[in-house]
Amino acid sequence: MRKKLFIPGPVEVYEGVLKAMGTPMIGHRTKEYADLHGALKNKLQQLLYTKNKIYLCTSSGTGLMEACVRNCVNKKAAHFICGEFGERWFGISVTNGKEADQFKVDLGHAIKPEMVDKELATGKYDTVFITHNETSVGVMNPLQEIAEVVKKYPDVLLLVDAVSSMAGVKIEVDKWDIDVCLASTQKGFALPPGFAICSVSARTLERAKQVKNRGYYFDFLEFDNFDAKNQTPTTPSVSHLFALNYQLDQILKEGLENRFNRHKELAMICRDWVKAQDFKLFPEPGYESITMTTIDNTKKINVNKLNEELGKVGYMISAGYGKLKETTFRIAHMGDTTAQELKELLSTMDRIIRTY
Ligand SMILES: *Cc1c(COP(=O)(O)O)cnc(C)c1O
Repeated sequence: MRKKLFIPGPVEVYEGVLKAMGTPMIGHRTKEYADLHGALKNKLQQLLYTKNKIYLCTSSGTGLMEACVRNCVNKKAAHFICGEFGERWFGISVTNGKEADQFKVDLGHAIKPEMVDKELATGKYDTVFITHNETSVGVMNPLQEIAEVVKKYPDVLLLVDAVSSMAGVKIEVDKWDIDVCLASTQKGFALPPGFAICSVSARTLERAKQVKNRGYYFDFLEFDNFDAKNQTPTTPSVSHLFALNYQLDQILKEGLENRFNRHKELAMICRDWVKAQDFKLFPEPGYESITMTTIDNTKKINVNKLNEELGKVGYMISAGYGKLKETTFRIAHMGDTTAQELKELLSTMDRIIRTY
């Protein structure tokens, strides 16, 4: 049976997007392509409240995480980590031979602006790496407040992994002064996986010019050369461009504020269910994710069995991530999910849990 996905990526992809993916192919050096590419950039700038450059990249989000490391770190990277995706980014710095330090909080806790301020005050760092919405724990870091702190340090670039928040939560790139804001397409955008986008500030490009060994595939300066022609250096996944263009039209038609409010409503519905079921929310209060909910499995239900039963009626949720596999479980409510669909999932879960 086909399962409707409530996992934090890939999320459910709706019919219109799948159809757009199937648009007949065009050459990537044609005017038709350049027009599509240019239109996409404009729409993404609206979504991110920015005039910064927008690059389209055929890779998953992790590719652009590596791009940030390779293009931006000259002196030393400061990685603020509250879960597995933050750990991954630190690992990318290390395996690329960069000088890097990691600053961690306990699982379920958020990165606080004071913590960032304290480390940047040492003057040791030229880059801050932060995961906006840490999907492994369901914590949403206070990005706007953290960005305010980073503004005090004009030589420090702020690099944000917004893979599981972009297009679901308002991120004001220019106002908050975010140097790189990146995401892949299989989460908030509700497209198939395999494509990524980012906004890049002028400051970032200036930095990249001073960084050696930026590599080939993810070189921002090379991205920028081709961006001037509304192209990418290598053959892009043109199908993703068609789908993203369709989806951004849907997003702008829904209205950005409406979309962000829908996500808040979904989070409230899910949190209310958690309380009614007598479970607990896993994250520290006040920092719960808006695009997904991580539930502390206080009743010690068998999540595998729950998912098996859900599968029989056409749903899939997610166990905890990594170290939290047995002790938490996760429900994603991002992309195009409606309140009605989420309520149907939750009442199905009620029905199954009642039989335990
Ligand atoms: C899913 C996810 C990633 C990894 O993205 P890929 O597209 O799988 O490379 C990185 N960071 C966060 C916060 C994520 O949720």
